[in-house]
Amino acid sequence: MNHRLMTKLPDTGISIFTHMSQLAVRHGAINLSQGFPDFDCSPRLVALVAQYMRQGYNQYAPMTGVAGLRERISAKVEATAGIYYHPETEITVTAGATQALFTAMATVIHPGDEVILFEPAYDAYAPSVRVFGGIPKPVALNAPDFAIDWEAVTHLMSPKTRLIIVNSPNNPTARVLSDTDYRRLVEILRDNDCYVLSDEVYEHMVYDGVQHRSAMHYAGLRERAFVVASFGKLYHTTGWKVGYCLAPAALMAEFRKIHQFNVFSVNTPVQHALAEFLNDPEEYLELGAFFQEKRDFMLEALSGTRFRALPCQGTYFLLADYTAISALPERLFCEALTEQRGVAMIPVSSFYSEETNQQLVRICFAKQRQTLEQAADRLALVSDL
Ligand code: PMP
Ligand code: GLN
Repeated sequence: MNHRLMTKLPDTGISIFTHMSQLAVRHGAINLSQGFPDFDCSPRLVALVAQYMRQGYNQYAPMTGVAGLRERISAKVEATAGIYYHPETEITVTAGATQALFTAMATVIHPGDEVILFEPAYDAYAPSVRVFGGIPKPVALNAPDFAIDWEAVTHLMSPKTRLIIVNSPNNPTARVLSDTDYRRLVEILRDNDCYVLSDEVYEHMVYDGVQHRSAMHYAGLRERAFVVASFGKLYHTTGWKVGYCLAPAALMAEFRKIHQFNVFSVNTPVQHALAEFLNDPEEYLELGAFFQEKRDFMLEALSGTRFRALPCQGTYFLLADYTAISALPERLFCEALTEQRGVAMIPVSSFYSEETNQQLVRICFAKQRQTLEQAADRLALVSDL
């Protein structure tokens, strides 16, 4: 064969999460890099999956998701956010939030369309936009507050702008969008044929009484929004890869056309188990308090080191400044810290398309107390690097 495959993603290698996790394993470092809990999910949830497998729920689920699960999702969203999405026409179960994001982008992006996103941005966004021929239009936000310059967004809008991606609570900044932010967005989109992709996988991980506001709370956004959530975050099951997408019926109908050829359907016994588990809201309503305790422990621990933590309103990440320790740029600093001091973190520069260096690292605190204590002991010894 003479054909040379022309890459669609010339600048993409393995993700920074894979790179840092591999480096952590190689050097026996404590892994605070990739975002996943190092503790197990509820044994009751595991038992439910096993039960449904034994009962023979082992063939294809309906394309849109198990009906009972879509009904429970609808009830959960109505109970927690006060908005009704119809389980038949407005909710689809997906293979994690990642597939929901990918399929939503496939649904709206045509070649040449422009997509506004905010950096630092989750690593999946821009490459997925490019796969569908879209053009990412990043708006860079900077430390310490990562505030959105809505004037800059207004200037970026053009007739080609087809989609705007928002993520609140935000990975990696640990900030949440305010009511004012959403209102500005509503205003900007009022006269535009632009859709919204709202990544809300950390919806329940908000701290200090901060409120999570969803795109669905704003009528001017809800009518054009795909809202994405993940059971991986909700139930400490990142390896199960089940999530869902909410959207008005007309948008969801188009989403499903692609979803059925993208994955067709999602893991059947897990969907039945999740449906049953969702009957107990305590399991996710406690999530904020559960992670706030870990965040507070990590903030306290960092105060005894030369790292300087930035405010953390949500997610299971926090950012820390290491200016007092090293002049190394972020990626080299993270690699050296892993190899020489045994703690792995993520360079914040990897969430930007342009080269940046703010001497910031992202720390995942979704870890057992013992892991966080060991990491804190090691970090307290780092005076220079
Ligand atoms: N969006 C954000 C902001 C994330 O941090 C993650 C994963 N940590 C995802 C999407 C992907 O979620 P899932 O594992 O359900 O695909
Ligand atoms: N979302 C996780 C993080 O931000 C990682 C997921 C992945 O490895 N792709 O760390």
